[in-house]
Amino acid sequence: MTTAVITVDRVTKNFTNPSGAQLPVLSNVSLELRDGEIVALLGKSGSGKSTLLRIIAGLVRPSAGVARYRDSEISAPNDGTAMVFQTFALLPWLTVQQNVELGLRALGVPEPERTQRTMAAIDMIGLDGFENAYPKELSGGMRQRVGFARALVVQPEVLLMDEPFSALDVLTAENLRGQLIRLWAQSDFPTRTVLMVTHNIEEAVQLADRILVLDTNPGRIKGEIRIPLEHPRDTRGRHFLNIVDQAYRMLTDTAFDGDRSIAPTPATRPLPDASVDGMGGMLDLVAADGGRADLPKLAGDLRFELDDLMPLVDAATLLGLAVTTDADLELTLDGRNFAEADIDTAKRIFARLARTNAPLVAAIDHALSSAPNHRLHDGFFLDLLRRGFTEDAARRQLRIAVDWGRYGELYEYDAGEHLLTRDPLAA
Ligand code: ADP
Ligand code: MG
Repeated sequence: MTTAVITVDRVTKNFTNPSGAQLPVLSNVSLELRDGEIVALLGKSGSGKSTLLRIIAGLVRPSAGVARYRDSEISAPNDGTAMVFQTFALLPWLTVQQNVELGLRALGVPEPERTQRTMAAIDMIGLDGFENAYPKELSGGMRQRVGFARALVVQPEVLLMDEPFSALDVLTAENLRGQLIRLWAQSDFPTRTVLMVTHNIEEAVQLADRILVLDTNPGRIKGEIRIPLEHPRDTRGRHFLNIVDQAYRMLTDTAFDGDRSIAPTPATRPLPDASVDGMGGMLDLVAADGGRADLPKLAGDLRFELDDLMPLVDAATLLGLAVTTDADLELTLDGRNFAEADIDTAKRIFARLARTNAPLVAAIDHALSSAPNHRLHDGFFLDLLRRGFTEDAARRQLRIAVDWGRYGELYEYDAGEHLLTRDPLAA
């Protein structure tokens, strides 16, 4: 039996926003990371993935529950882990070698061991020849190699990776991912246990032994997928594609989306960050495909990553323009009519659905209809939103609601005056 290196036991994390409201970010999350495992955390943006990694790294304390490394509670930066970030903050005035060496200096590793280990890490990750280069001389891919070398040089028991490939272009990411897989396959590779965050489903299925799917609002574990495939994996093989499909199904499964019997509010049902144009484009594609499209295929056709496609899918399903079943996106009757209608009819369908199904749009519409002169300052809505969202998220919610309401001609927005206005003649 393999033992747990990391145990996360019923961890909950709330952040307090400036207006004093408690924002739940992680709710009752439990997981175990066993010796030698590669586990991927897959979830939409905002599902608390980075927060969970920071808790395990000992950079953030949970509000409730406990995280353990081996048998001890993690209450300070965790020396058993090292982290690779999406964009690695390299010190621009240090060379590659000096950047990689930093972690060993912090640990007090003396010369000549320090140089020897640094050179070994640089060599392993394919940076030899670049020892004396400065970060600004390096491409994005080479910089991220420095990020990996800097994490691996301390030979952590557990490597934590927070979307390490997502800032790289597709080919560079593919290349680096492939090299890491080959490194892991070598038995002398010092770090055997990896927890990686990604929003790229194929990446998770390519690398991990297990995928944990997280859900949003608040972040919690929705399910687990085991991947019993040998490395290197055939990314076009039937098994591989089945698992990709399964992961899409789990991510889009709305059975977990909170209690449907409680009337949704702008805070419990946030608007996905999707423009009407983006949604319209996606629905057109699905309509052209006979009204039903396989999500992995749709993402591939659009060369989209999950973070780009999911808000569009979420928005379309929230509005009632589409439903997801078995990793397919299927247009509803309204969705078909919307995709095929002329612009005025499309706007009317959209307005009706937004008023029924998008709580923030409904709230704005309702408030404006009873306000004097049918106008309100946007600060009124921002104040309300700040009770349930961070400042950034509150502004984003308002921006989306303005975009949707404008398209449906429910209300107008004057950005200079910060005024929302409803056409008194609107139905
Ligand atoms: P993910 O990595 O899955 O996108 P994060 O863990 O970064 O998610 O964030 C989850 C939520 O927690 C987000 O809504 C984010 O705004 C919020 N959040 C993260 N860090 C803080 C913080 N220090 N203070 C307040 N809110 C935060
Ligand atoms: Mg993150």
